[in-house]
Amino acid sequence: MQDQLSENTPNLCPHCGNELTLWEQVLLSVDRMLVCRNCWYRIILDPPEASANQSENNKEDKEG
Ligand SMILES: [Zn+2]
Repeated sequence: MQDQLSENTPNLCPHCGNELTLWEQVLLSVDRMLVCRNCWYRIILDPPEASANQSENNKEDKEG
């Protein structure tokens, strides 16, 4: 039996085009991250969550 990986899982390194092994694809699908052994490019499946939480906290002290 062979489970098919998700289509989101790339089988090639987007940086150098190195073909990932099946085991590396499994690791990538599980960990959502994999370091290419050829170029050491860090392949990340999920885009980084941009949680912009800007809280302006300005305090102005006036000294007379
Ligand atoms: Zn690579």
